[in-house]
Amino acid sequence: MTSDAIAALKTALGPKGWSEDPNDIAAHTRDWRGRWQGETPILLKPANTEEVSQAVRICAKAGIAITPQGGNTGLVGGSIPRGEVLISMSRMRSIREIDTANDSITVDAGCILETVQETAAEQNRLFPLSLGSQGSASIGGLISTNAGGVHVLRYGMMRDLILGIEAVLPDGRIWNGLRGLRKDNSGYDLKQVFIGAEGTLGIVTAATLKLFPKPAEMCVAFAGIPSPEAAVDLLGIAKQASGGSLSALEIVPRNALELVLAHIPGTRDPLERPHPWYALLEIGAGRIGEGRTAMEAALGEGFEAGLVQDAVIAENETQALALWQLREPIAEAEKAHGKAAKHDVSIPVSRIAAFIREATDASEKLVDGANVIAFGHVGDGNVHFNVAHRNEGAGDDFLKICEPATEAIYDLVQKYGGSIAAEHGVGTLKSGDLAQRRPLEVELMKSIKAALDPKGIMNPRVLIPVR
Ligand SMILES: Cc1cc2nc3c(=O)[nH]c(=O)nc-3n(C[C@H](O)[C@H](O)[C@H](O)COP(=O)(O)OP(=O)(O)OC[C@H]3O[C@@H](n4cnc5c(N)ncnc54)[C@H](O)[C@@H]3O)c2cc1C
Repeated sequence: MTSDAIAALKTALGPKGWSEDPNDIAAHTRDWRGRWQGETPILLKPANTEEVSQAVRICAKAGIAITPQGGNTGLVGGSIPRGEVLISMSRMRSIREIDTANDSITVDAGCILETVQETAAEQNRLFPLSLGSQGSASIGGLISTNAGGVHVLRYGMMRDLILGIEAVLPDGRIWNGLRGLRKDNSGYDLKQVFIGAEGTLGIVTAATLKLFPKPAEMCVAFAGIPSPEAAVDLLGIAKQASGGSLSALEIVPRNALELVLAHIPGTRDPLERPHPWYALLEIGAGRIGEGRTAMEAALGEGFEAGLVQDAVIAENETQALALWQLREPIAEAEKAHGKAAKHDVSIPVSRIAAFIREATDASEKLVDGANVIAFGHVGDGNVHFNVAHRNEGAGDDFLKICEPATEAIYDLVQKYGGSIAAEHGVGTLKSGDLAQRRPLEVELMKSIKAALDPKGIMNPRVLIPVR
């Protein structure tokens, strides 16, 4: 990298806008799971869109590659620079505007998800995206990975929650597409190419997001169930009973619950005896009492059909949070247990139970000591299918042993008509697998990339493999 370009970047961003201090940089070059260690010659922290534009313009002119970074909670290696200039959005955290009549909020891309949720709640609105990393994940990162989380069943993924985007293009031009419109049929919907692009087509600098009425009641229940098949049947019942206001149905196997109870302080099993599987259900109702009535009806019908073995309904918000605390920190509990081969996959809901069974059998045959932990968002067909070791402390060598299982799991995903990248994205972790399994789609993506980023400076290696 030329020293002229570095000097120009420093001048453009001012003393607060860059760092070469290894201590500052360290937190940005290692991923959340500790799987990838990267490097960067300089960490840039622009304060506004204009500064992002200037930085990208300088890099484009010098042919210097860039990795954009939000909260660095991504799980597929996309935010870790491998020698690229790192542009962190951590100084761009303003709420630009909240428009309650339009049910929309416009925020800087570095804004943390929890801040957006809280700002919406203060205005009696809901921003429904919700996930375990919401205290650190940024709006720009959530857009760039098209994040999902626990409320996709009712509100959709990040893609469904965006009205407009502002982005800095790979040549430094600023595209202001921050329109708060629900109807806008003026040709190609350009914002869509930036959603899920994982920083390969430009840097998202701001977004206008949809808001929803804040439910008056959130009723949460935790049920012991015999099998994933029961979870799918219960899903159908709960959707009917709630009249469309079921906002989450998550499944948790007993082994995942045991990890949470062992590693997450303050958690306890709310049911009297162990069950092989659990379903966590959430209904958000417009009027107090309606959610509970619907939940009781769904669980009652589930009992009669033999789908529910035991259940508890939260009586208040504290209890509801305690039930969510049995589901949300599973990733954290797994991390404390040891390394695991993780597969974030989606399958049509109707086939998910068969997939879990077959993939579990395959993994147990292929990996000595395998402890399959399959949990997640069954309500929308997304399962986190993880192969851990029965004993604590598995390391990177165990990940190597799991490679044949990953192949077998992805083959089954394909057989069942699913996707090997449900909500975390592709990153560097899955770019080879994606190119192998969806070659034409990756070729089309390369054409789009070449049109927008002809110099190939935006997040090389991520999403699209470099040959
Ligand atoms: C405990 C835990 C639980 C999680 N649960 C979920 C879950 O339920 N559902 C889910 O979908 N994900 C989940 N994730 C994954 C992660 O939080 C999401 O992928 C999130 O969207 C990443 O946001 P971030 O700001 O941390 O992005 P980063 O990790 O910083 O970046 C992710 C990708 O986006 C790019 N990027 C970041 N900001 C920008 C920008 N402004 N413009 C262009 N590109 C950009 C990066 O280059 C990278 O490719 C979880 C992660 C953890 C650690």
